[in-house]
Amino acid sequence: MSLSLEPQVKRDINWITIAYLLGLPLSAFLLFSKAQAEHVFFWPIIVYAIIHYSIDCLCITVGYHRFISHKAFEAHPAVKALILFAGAGAFQNSALVWARDHRVHHREVDTDDDPYSINKGFWYAHFFWMFHKDPKGIEKKTPPDLKKDALIQLQHRFYLPLAILVGFLIPMFAGYLMGSAFAGLYVGAILRLISSGHCTFMINSVAHVLGTRPYSVNNTARDNWFLSILTFGEGYHNYHHRFQADYRNGPVWYAWDPSKWIIFGLSRLGLAHGLIRVDEEKIRLARMEVAEQKLEQKGLDIATLVKKRMEVLQIAERIQALREDLEKMKAEGKAKMDRSERALVYACKRKLKEMKRARNNAVKQWKEQRKLIQSLPRLQY
Ligand SMILES: [Zn+2]
Ligand SMILES: [Zn+2]
Repeated sequence: MSLSLEPQVKRDINWITIAYLLGLPLSAFLLFSKAQAEHVFFWPIIVYAIIHYSIDCLCITVGYHRFISHKAFEAHPAVKALILFAGAGAFQNSALVWARDHRVHHREVDTDDDPYSINKGFWYAHFFWMFHKDPKGIEKKTPPDLKKDALIQLQHRFYLPLAILVGFLIPMFAGYLMGSAFAGLYVGAILRLISSGHCTFMINSVAHVLGTRPYSVNNTARDNWFLSILTFGEGYHNYHHRFQADYRNGPVWYAWDPSKWIIFGLSRLGLAHGLIRVDEEKIRLARMEVAEQKLEQKGLDIATLVKKRMEVLQIAERIQALREDLEKMKAEGKAKMDRSERALVYACKRKLKEMKRARNNAVKQWKEQRKLIQSLPRLQY
């Protein structure tokens, strides 16, 4: 029995990935004294490494993740080509494989079929899952939209030479121009790739363990602002798992999410369009629902809160309908509006304002009710 299992286990191990993932830190360690002797830590190469690190991270967050995996926006073909070219240098596989695995992660999150389920252990979710050729949950079938995309297919086909060119040869050439190809290899490639790789991997490990859950308690994903600083905004993972189609991971304006600012900037330059933005009413209601679930888990009676939230929901639906009416009226009467049409628009705007006031009042009452419920256990003792 054991004899027949052994070759199967051997076949399942992805030796090339293991050699890459363990070989990088090992070579950084073995080459450290040579690096020190050759004074490779000079400012121009450090600045180069930081820039290339940012390119790695942004190609993954803006490109592989929000654009290709989630279709949170549409990019200009030039932007797409750039993402696929530079993104290969991050050594995180082709966009096709990355997006295919990531979609399964969202669909099967925390189950046995989640390719990087946190329930299989912190380090498994971080990077041990890649040590297997076919971790459970990985689909062999390529999603049709990725299959018929010529650019994505092209990158997939030439992934390895592209990755070596962008990930290693370009940094070495940059280092050579600055006086040391070895500095380019050590700082610009090895140290950079260790950093950008493990920062991305932390989204699958740390962001499923440490942080808050304001938008959903149905999975392990967490919002973690500190991780967002390291990963260009990907740390708001709880929001992302609830609203994966949104081009923002941090929906509030002050959330540190450079990826959303870059996508928005690209749209302003005409290089991206169709940005998906979840309605603020929907986001607020999700937060309210989760706050109620947390109180319920503490054994508190949330019936009055749920009733109040339903009131907010009804007003939110009215607001949404009024917004749509207003948009329609504006679109229809774009060229010129007669007096009665202008009066209709005015009445619609007034009603919208009224509804927003009613919503604010209902939310305020919900918050007061929540405070009251939270204080109940203390009153009982
Ligand atoms: Zn996740
Ligand atoms: Zn995602």
